[in-house]
Formats: sequence, structure tokens, C-alpha cells
Amino acid sequence: MSLKPIVGLLGGPLARRLTRSGGRVLMYHRFGTDAAGRRMTATSFEQQLRYLVRHFRVSPLRDVVQALHGGRALDARTVVVTIDDGYEDFREHAYPLLRRFEVPATLFVVTRFVDGDYWLWFDAVHYVLLQTARSRCALPIDGGILQLDLSSMPARQRAWSAIGERCLAMDGAGRETVIQTLQRELQIAIPERPLPAYRGMTWDEIRGLDRELIDIGSHTCTHPVLSRCSAADIAREVGDSRRIIERRLGRPVEAFCYPNGEPADYDERAVLAVKQAGYRCATVAHGGPIVSTADPYRLERIGAAREMVKFRSAVNGVTTLADGWRAWRTATF
Ligand SMILES: [Zn+2]
Repeated sequence: MSLKPIVGLLGGPLARRLTRSGGRVLMYHRFGTDAAGRRMTATSFEQQLRYLVRHFRVSPLRDVVQALHGGRALDARTVVVTIDDGYEDFREHAYPLLRRFEVPATLFVVTRFVDGDYWLWFDAVHYVLLQTARSRCALPIDGGILQLDLSSMPARQRAWSAIGERCLAMDGAGRETVIQTLQRELQIAIPERPLPAYRGMTWDEIRGLDRELIDIGSHTCTHPVLSRCSAADIAREVGDSRRIIERRLGRPVEAFCYPNGEPADYDERAVLAVKQAGYRCATVAHGGPIVSTADPYRLERIGAAREMVKFRSAVNGVTTLADGWRAWRTATF
């Protein structure tokens, strides 16, 4: 017997009390629609915001961080909204809804991406794979050969994931080599500026956002995997991005977000660099609810699912509770 249906019946308040959590930080990336169905549609986002304002207290990230630094308990109904990367689709689809519902959010931007003439590396790979006329490719990568099936859209998406996995284990130079090789092998040249589907907001557009509602945090200069970077590169990515955003926007930057954000993607050197650069907090891309003893420099986040049922379960802590129940049952029986 699973605990999930019981919790589903009794509702969110019980789940929140049982998990003894002090809140949740939600993580969003892209908005609108795309062929692969990976983005959060405006309709789903609106449904989620309506649900959050009705059942939770949506707080700015800085309030949660202040409570954590001060050792104060968090209200179990606290929810924080964060959005990574700074794509143009945020301004088009998500921002008007955040304004309408008066929901505060933190937007983590990649400074070179906002400059307008820089491709996020995973988008560059995606573009080449989607544009090529080739139906297969033996890609030289990392001293070996990766066989790529490009015969259909789902196959190309799988190829993208496979190359992405390899790239996450490389440093910047290694990733750059992969992108050059891909362009050569698949006979596609990446344009200098990202095309609309891959475009970031401009600095002017970010300055135009309501600063009372949208806080801007740093997501580095070039979105590298920090655990694969040299100490000097970590210091540059973490420190320079903060200085650049502060200079461009004329306001302090207190929040940082580790690129990719899985446990293997940030290490002690990265955490230390974030503290030394003067940030007050940093978010990761895994984990569950925030307790009042949480480390502000490893703030866990919950990815916002597109499906409302999954979203409600995650935000109410049912997923965490069910996971805990499964772990307990396995250990006990
Ligand atoms: Zn990111």
C-alpha cells in the first residue's frame, strides 16, 4: 500500500505538516510551446500561479535567505519561484502572468547570453542537430566515436541528450571542440547570434522588468559546469558575472545559481567562490523542501512539472513524503 493516495485524499496541509518542511523553492526554465513539448505553456504557468497564490505564501527568495541566515523558522506555506538562464520567452509568456498575480520571482541570468551574441552550449548542440540534413553520424568525441541516429525528431532529441551527457563531463575547451566537430560533421554553421528560439533577453529588457517583483541573480558568465573548471575560471565566472550584472542594472546581486546544478556539477571550490564573491545564497537543481537549518549556499529546488497533478504533489511535499515512505518500508521489510 502506498501512502500517496492517502495523502492525496487528506490534502496538502497534512503532507506539509508531516514533511516538517519550511518551504519550497521552485525551478522553471523555458516557457511557451516547442515541438518537443519541453516548455511550460502560459496556460499551465497561469494554473500553477493561481494554485500557489491560493494555497501558499509566495515569497521573494531574499526573505527565505534572510530567515536562514538569521536562524528563523520558515512558514511551511512558503514557496519561492525561480527561473534559470534568462531566455526571451520568460518576458513574453511568464512575466505578464507574474505581474498579474503579483508573484515575486528570482531570474538567474547568464551574462554573456544576455549580451546577445553568445549561444548557450546546449542550444548550439541542439541547433546543429535539428538543422542537419544527415540522418546519421559517427561523431568523434572524447577519443571515441558516438553513433548518432538522426532519422527522426525523437531520435535527434535523444542524440542531443547523449551529447549533452558527454559535454557535462568536459571542461570548456572540450565542449568547444565537440561543437566545432558537430558543425563540421553535420555541415551546419552556427549563426553568430542565437536565432529567436534560442535567444536571451537583452539588458534593456531586463532593466525594463519591475524590479520590485523580479530580482536578478547570477547564473555565471558562460554557463560552464563549475566542477570541471579551474579555480581561476570559477572565480571569474562567479565574481565577474556579479560585477557585470550590478554595473548593468545598478543594483546589488545577492543570489547565485550553479549551472546544471546537480551534485556533480558544483564542488567545494565553487561554493567557497560564491561566498567569497559576496553572494548571500546559491541554489542547486535537485532536492526537496527547505528546512530552517538548510545551507543558504546549497539551497535545494524542486523542478516545476508541466502536469498540474505532478506539480501539486511536488509543491505539497507528497513526492518527498512518498519517497520517504518507500525508503522506510524498504529498510524495515
Ligand atoms: Zn541554466
